[in-house]
This record gives sequence, structure tokens and C-alpha cells, in this order.
Amino acid sequence: MTMKLFTNAFLFDCTGADPVEKGWVLTEDDVIRETGDGKPPSPPDAEILDCRGLTLLPGLIDAHIHVSLYDNDLGNQHRAYYPAMHYVKAMAVLKDTLDQGFTTVRDAGGADAGFRVAVEQGLITGPSITVCGSSLCITGGHADCRYSTEQRPPVFGPFTSSIADGVPEVQKAAREQLRQGVDYIKVMAGGGCASQADEPDTVQYTPAEMEAIVYEASAVGKKVLAHCYSNNSMRLCANAGVYSIEHGNYLDSATAKLIKDKGCWLVPTLSTYFFMSDNGEKLGIPGYFLRKMKQVREHALEAVKIAMNAGLNIGSGSDMVGDGQAHKNMEIELKSRVMGARKAILSATRENSRLIFQEDKIGTIEAGKRADMILVDGKPLEKPEAFKNRDNIKVILLRGNLYKNIL
Ligand SMILES: [Zn+2]
Repeated sequence: MTMKLFTNAFLFDCTGADPVEKGWVLTEDDVIRETGDGKPPSPPDAEILDCRGLTLLPGLIDAHIHVSLYDNDLGNQHRAYYPAMHYVKAMAVLKDTLDQGFTTVRDAGGADAGFRVAVEQGLITGPSITVCGSSLCITGGHADCRYSTEQRPPVFGPFTSSIADGVPEVQKAAREQLRQGVDYIKVMAGGGCASQADEPDTVQYTPAEMEAIVYEASAVGKKVLAHCYSNNSMRLCANAGVYSIEHGNYLDSATAKLIKDKGCWLVPTLSTYFFMSDNGEKLGIPGYFLRKMKQVREHALEAVKIAMNAGLNIGSGSDMVGDGQAHKNMEIELKSRVMGARKAILSATRENSRLIFQEDKIGTIEAGKRADMILVDGKPLEKPEAFKNRDNIKVILLRGNLYKNIL
């Protein structure tokens, strides 16, 4: 049994309570035992960490990552590596995500159940991860990475999507992913940026196909995540029973109201648009990708504002790919521009824990929860850009272990 006592912290526990100046937290093995402010207890064997001047927060959660999308030219990545190289590269992304302060992640397409099991069994070091496996997409839709000049069927391999058209094919594709132990089904419901042949502001799957996919997932108690930008696509998904709308850049008030009425979540992913728009040229991403990223970025912040005004459940995801993988922590600062730092942080902690049905385990610093915490310099509640510099993250406590400690 090992105990750790964090003292003198500026404690923001993310329960919704105000931060406290002289907070303390006592952990025992991988569990938070007690928290408080003022005079801490003095258990004889506890390791003491003096957090003076630093902010103690729950470990961050990124609800939209892709460990498997590590190249800037996504459309070509599946052609470039042997399967073993794919996994080695994805594992490096997962570990680096932990280095940025994320102790839990939801992979929104690409990673198979092996990543979840490997972390659970301690075979690899990384945040706890839940997965969608291969995303479902239509022929010629987002995630069909073939060029329009290609005549052959797609090459399937690690991290490629499942191309399925029509109700019987989508049922089979969804069942196949469920058979392979995924936590959710991911559907490319509308157009996207990283694929050559389609435009973001379009609808792809039909209502009948979406309903069939949602049926297969819900039959085994699982949820569907849908990639969409257009209002038509978001409305179609909400009506079909999709659980979380990913991106949603063109959101208008009428769609926001429908999404809310249907109990759907919105997971905006601001980081990837800002990072890729600003850096895409120098990183050499293809012209069609960059053009579309710039186009959808225009509406990204406005969508968050509309969602907030409509009282939507808003999760937090970065959707970073390629070189952006190292900068997932941009998301809190970008969201703060609309929501303010406090709500942006809550969205990446408590709200995300609700989104992924783990609010009884993670997302806040409370007795009984898992000992996943970060200690941050630079007053992140006043300056959310503090998260962007990983050197500001002085301590990462992962399942009760000091994964990082540069106090
Ligand atoms: Zn994504």
C-alpha cells in the first residue's frame, strides 16, 4: 500500500465547486481517499508532494483522438508502412498523449481493442483508452482513402476503414467491429477534409443505413459516434439515434435544439483545424486537405457558441493527426475563447467522463475516484494557454503512480 499526500495546492477538483487555495488530496494506491482544504491529515507513511503555487486538476480526457493517424498525409499513410510499423508508431502517439497530461482517451476511429487491452494489462504505458475499431464509410466518402484515379478496390490493413454501402453491408460491418470488441461504432456520416473525393458540407449515409448501424450497436448496449459537419447530416444522425456528433462545425441553432432534444452530445474538435490551417503548408499536407481545413475552421468557434447557448452537452476532443499529435493541449485554450477557461477545463474532465460513461471513476478529484491527476504551473484557470507547454505539467499521477514528477 502506498499513500501520497498532495498539499498546498490550488485545487480545482472539477466537480463544479470553486477552486480552493490550500487544497490537499490523499491517495492510496490507485484511489483518491480524501480531499480537503486547510490543515491536511498526517498519515505516517505518505509521500508528501508540496504543490505550492501550482494547480491540481483531474487527469485530462481527450474524447476524440486517433492514435493511428500519425502522418500528415493521411491519405497515403496506409500505403507507406508494414503492419508492425503501424503499431509501433501508434503506441508512440499513445504514450506522447499521456505526456501531455491526458490520462484517459477515446479513440474515434482506427485503434482496435488491442490497445485497450494492452494498456489494461500493463503491456504498454499510456492513458486508459476506449476504441471504435475501423470507421464505417461509404464508397467514395470520408475515410475512403482512394484517389479518384484509382480503379481497384481499397487495400485493407491496420487502421483502414470499413467501406460499406446499403443496409445489409452496414449491418455486417457494424457486427464485424462489435465482434472484434470495440467500445463504440464510428460512422463517417458526412463529408470530410482528409479524403480527396468529397466535401465536408455533405450528407453521406442515408437515414436507413444510419438507423441500421445504431440498431446493431444498441442491440448490444453500445453507442454510435458520427463524423459530420453539415446541419443536414447532424439532423439525420440525431434522428437516427446517434449518441455523439463529432466536429459539427456548421451547427445552427435549429440543429442544436434538435440535437439537445434527442439527448445527443456534441464533441467539437477545434485543435486540428487551427493547427493544420496554420501549419499545413510547411508540413506538406495535400492541397485539398488544407483548403477544406481552412474552410471548416471558419465556423468552428461559432458552432461552440451556438452549442453553448442551446445548452448542449459539449465534450472535448482534439482530433489531432500527424505533427498535430504533439499539441492536443491546444483544445482547452481554443475552447476558452468561447466558453471561458473554467468551462473549457470542465469539458475536458467532468463532462468528458460523462460522455464516456466513466463519471463514477474519473473526471473529478473526489474520494473513491481513480488517482489520475495533473499538477500544472502557469495558473491555467486564468491562462488556459498554460496547458500548451508540456513543461508546465509538473506531475502526472496515473492510476496512483507518479508517471511524471519534475517538482
Ligand atoms: Zn476524427
